[in-house]
Amino acid sequence: MAAPTQDTTTSSSSGTAALGGGGTGGLPTPPTFATSAEERLHRKQQLAGAFRIFGRFGFGEGIAGHITVRDPEDPEMFWVNPFGMSFRHIRVSDLIMVDHHGTVRHGNRPVNQAGFVIHSAVHAEHPHVVAAAHAHSVHGKAWSSLGRPLDPITQDACALYENHGVVHEGAGAVVLDPEAGRALARGLTGRKMVFHQNHGIFSVGETVAEAAWWFISTERNCQAQLLAEAAGTPTLVDHANARFTAEQTGTPYAGWFSYQPLWDEVVRTDPDLFD
Ligand SMILES: [Zn+2]
Repeated sequence: MAAPTQDTTTSSSSGTAALGGGGTGGLPTPPTFATSAEERLHRKQQLAGAFRIFGRFGFGEGIAGHITVRDPEDPEMFWVNPFGMSFRHIRVSDLIMVDHHGTVRHGNRPVNQAGFVIHSAVHAEHPHVVAAAHAHSVHGKAWSSLGRPLDPITQDACALYENHGVVHEGAGAVVLDPEAGRALARGLTGRKMVFHQNHGIFSVGETVAEAAWWFISTERNCQAQLLAEAAGTPTLVDHANARFTAEQTGTPYAGWFSYQPLWDEVVRTDPDLFD
C-alpha cells in the first residue's frame, strides 16, 4: 500500500466555522501541492476512493457509471475507471488516462465510450471543472424520469437550490453521439448537477470530493422527495431561506468538506485502494 498523500490542511484562521465563504474558521481545507506529480497521485487516490464509496452506497449497476478527474499537468487528459470493473475493487493502479479523442494514453484496459463522450465534453466546456461523476443509482434514475428539478423540501435539498437542472436532449438514449455529450455539458453551465432525462445524475466539482458529494447528496435528496411525495404533499422551504441555505451549504468548499467523513472512512476500511 502506498501511503495516501496529504489529504487535508488546517486553516490557521479562527472564528466561527462557516461553509459559505469568508474563511473556513479553522476547518480543514483542500490540500495544495508543490508538483504536478504529487497532485496527480492525490487526484488518483481521491478518484479510486470515490469509486469505493460509490460502490458502498450501491451506486454500481453492472458496467454503468464513471467518475473522471482532469490531469493536473495536461488538462486535455482525464483519469477514469476502466470499463467493466466493479467500483468496489478499483485501485489507483487500475485507473486509466484518456485523451479528448477517446484514446487510452495510460493503462491497458478499455474506456466506456459513453463515459468518454460525456466527460470529454464536460471537461472541454468547463475549464474550472476538475471532476465529474455519473452512475445509475436507483433514486436518481427514478427521479430523472420525471423531467423536473428537485424542490427545496429539506435543508439538505436547499444546497441544490437554483444551481441544478434537467437536460432533456437525448433522453434515454445511450450517450454515444458527441452532440448529446455537448448538450449535457451545456446543461451544466453555472450548475453543480443535472439530471439527464430518463437516465440519471451528473455532477461536477472543483475536486473529486466535491463532485462525489453532490452526486451522493443528490441521490439521497431524490430518495427523500420520492418518499415525501409518496406520502403526501411536502411543504417547500421559502425562497429566501432556500437561497440562504444554498449560499451556506452549496459552495465548492462545503461540498468538499461534507465528503471528508466518507473519505476518512474508506481510507481506514479499504487500504488496498492505494495500491
Ligand atoms: Zn449512464
